[in-house]
Amino acid sequence: MINVDKIRKDFPILKRTVHGKPLVYFDNAATSQTPQIVIDAIVNYYSNYNSNIHRGVHTLSQEATDKYEEARIKIQRHFNAKNPYEIILTSGTTHSINMVASGFASILKKGDEIIVSALEHHSNIVPWQMLCEKTGAVLKVIPMLKNGSLDMEAYYKLVNKKTKLVFCNHVSNALGTVNPIEKIIEAAHKFDAAVLIDGAQATPHIKPDVQALNVDFYVASAHKLCGPTGVGLLYGKEEWLQKLPPYQGGGEMIATVSFEKTTYAGLPHKFEAGTPNICGGIAFGAAIDYMNAVGFDNIASYEDELLKYGTQELLKIEGLKIYGTTSEKTAVISFNVGEIHPYDIGSILDKLGIAVRTGHHCAQPIMDFYKIPGTVRASFSFYNTKEEIDILINGVKRAVMMLS
Ligand SMILES: *Cc1c(COP(=O)(O)O)cnc(C)c1O
Repeated sequence: MINVDKIRKDFPILKRTVHGKPLVYFDNAATSQTPQIVIDAIVNYYSNYNSNIHRGVHTLSQEATDKYEEARIKIQRHFNAKNPYEIILTSGTTHSINMVASGFASILKKGDEIIVSALEHHSNIVPWQMLCEKTGAVLKVIPMLKNGSLDMEAYYKLVNKKTKLVFCNHVSNALGTVNPIEKIIEAAHKFDAAVLIDGAQATPHIKPDVQALNVDFYVASAHKLCGPTGVGLLYGKEEWLQKLPPYQGGGEMIATVSFEKTTYAGLPHKFEAGTPNICGGIAFGAAIDYMNAVGFDNIASYEDELLKYGTQELLKIEGLKIYGTTSEKTAVISFNVGEIHPYDIGSILDKLGIAVRTGHHCAQPIMDFYKIPGTVRASFSFYNTKEEIDILINGVKRAVMMLS
């Protein structure tokens, strides 16, 4: 059970007002808010042991190194990776995807095929297009159905022995659809294709088990699960991380350097050139501890309650249409009212202190599919309440009255 009053006290930002109204923060799918315990971890790092890791013999450097490596182990345990060195700390999902894409440039050959889903975030489309241009591989797309789910029958026909890579998000950021990634992974593995799952939108709600999923790569960003911006992870199966070449050259990623030849460091350092976001990594670990203390089962059941309530109440508004209507959904409601432009609704809601996202949500192909310019997206977190949803409903009604 979630004690939401108690939880809300953990988030200092929830006390602020916007345009004189209490903040109602429903843009959690873009970034989540930060609990005090994570803010404390950041302050503690810069106040007490800020220094570079893995190099110094001095005490501060050793403390920072220990904390950073402890964070890696927290992340490893959370995702149930077999080994800590299969967790590469990156600057976030986009960076992680690009690392894998650039690594595959040396593996793919002309005529090989890459499959992506129609539900992708731009960060999961563009790197593959660039990779195809570079290698002559061909990009195939799993089409979507009207309810916002993937056309799995079409997928089973697309995947074949030319398929080398399959990319799909675990949860769609634009619609909230939870994709059947177990089935996607299993079908790809029949043809020895690797699978990368973008978990940026799933990890705030679901605790993924990368070994049970048998996934080859899984990526996510800390800032969507109560951590800071600028840090995230690339999980890769050891065999794949050994196979891929390093992404960047620099300090930390080498074993020996001479002008004739450089040998690379072992995992994970091979992929962690330069000084990383040390404080961010440590704070990411603190965020994972916080989320686990709240409990992912509690989070999922409470957010589902919010989703059901919000869906039911929003649908009472005349002319309101929700996009993404599968039963397998996280707490994201993407909607439009009649012909009103989503941006206009969003601007009025902001004046009322309500933060929603409007636009194409970095997923233009989905908007093209529905032939709409964008949607208003309200995304809930475990620190939101039904009372806040009521404020949203009244706000939307007011916006509709003003705009129609
Ligand atoms: C947010 C998001 C991304 C991008 O994450 P960054 O932290 O901006 O790199 C990618 N995919 C999905 C599904 C997302 O929700």
